[in-house]
Amino acid sequence: MSRLQKFKRIVVKIGSSLLVDRETGLKESWLHSIASDIAKLREAGCEVLVVSSGAIALGRTVLGLAATSIKLEESQAAAAAGQIALARVYSEALGKHDLKAGQILLTLGDTEERRRYLNARATINTLLRLGAVPIINENDSVATGEIRYGDNDRLAARVATMVSADLLILLSDIDGLYSAPPTADKSAHFIEQVDVITPEIEAMAGDAGTELSRGGMVTKIEAGKIATLAGTAMVISSGKELNPLQALSDGAKSTWFKPTSTPVNARKKWIAGQMEFCGKITVDEGASGALLSGKSLLPAGVNTIEGDFHRGDIVEILNHDGSVLGRGQIAYDAPDAKQIIGRKSGEIAEILGYAGRAAMIHRDDMILNKGK
Ligand code: GLU
Repeated sequence: MSRLQKFKRIVVKIGSSLLVDRETGLKESWLHSIASDIAKLREAGCEVLVVSSGAIALGRTVLGLAATSIKLEESQAAAAAGQIALARVYSEALGKHDLKAGQILLTLGDTEERRRYLNARATINTLLRLGAVPIINENDSVATGEIRYGDNDRLAARVATMVSADLLILLSDIDGLYSAPPTADKSAHFIEQVDVITPEIEAMAGDAGTELSRGGMVTKIEAGKIATLAGTAMVISSGKELNPLQALSDGAKSTWFKPTSTPVNARKKWIAGQMEFCGKITVDEGASGALLSGKSLLPAGVNTIEGDFHRGDIVEILNHDGSVLGRGQIAYDAPDAKQIIGRKSGEIAEILGYAGRAAMIHRDDMILNKGK
């Protein structure tokens, strides 16, 4: 496990197509091969967490829905039947190596609301401390619409940042990032390493696709943004062959995404991983420079504010040209924030009738794309 050996805590995301065959169901030999890879990593002193898809796909075979196109409530029923089977097979496969599995099913609110986030994190950390391998999935049988992650790439990134993993491995039938979607552009070349996820890198992923093709490169790049911003490296590699972690460790083809170099504290990791913003704050050039040099955002440096947010919500911070500078937890409700933009901090009490915070977003509550 040489290439993976330097990592201490690894989240492995397993795509449905690796685990489940539409016709025949579970791919048992593949599952046993990854269980043996996990056992080797554990022997090398590395903690491993698994974010596994496959509940819906497996449940469709279990319930005899494999050949038909299914409605939402049927796919939720499939998730219920599939998840219980998935949990059992993970537990058996890891058990062969004397490892215990512990199942965690998350919904979006479990990572977006800080109190629930801390609770989920404590449970997962306790499982790890007790030597178990957490097997995590979205709670698909109850999560719907806007309260879903919808894809396990971003869920896995969120979990990786939550537990301060140093590596996130995305295993699927895609071996990495190409300069353009290779199915559409035969001249596309393979990208081995991404230092920073720029708009050019995002464009390489192609379109967001449809509900059916979710989990493609677009969600993987989104996952990369969440992970790298919080200091977790990410790698995309094919899991099609047996023992994919061993293969990756031995140098298999893959795309590596570098994490930001600055250490990120736990609170900032939560901010970095937030998936939805309640508002947008555009700052002037002077403020952009000040933030990049490690200062807090004062009302005087704010040009415009959009959105209906409350104090404590996460908002996106934009440069004056509209490019994204970072995100942070705002210290004011939207109506109050709007009243104090462009004003000196000393004037806040007089304008609002109460002494609010001098900073609209404190530097400890902020994370910039530069990783500060
Ligand atoms: N949570 C879904 C499942 O277990 C998979 C979502 C995805 O593939 O990204 O079936």
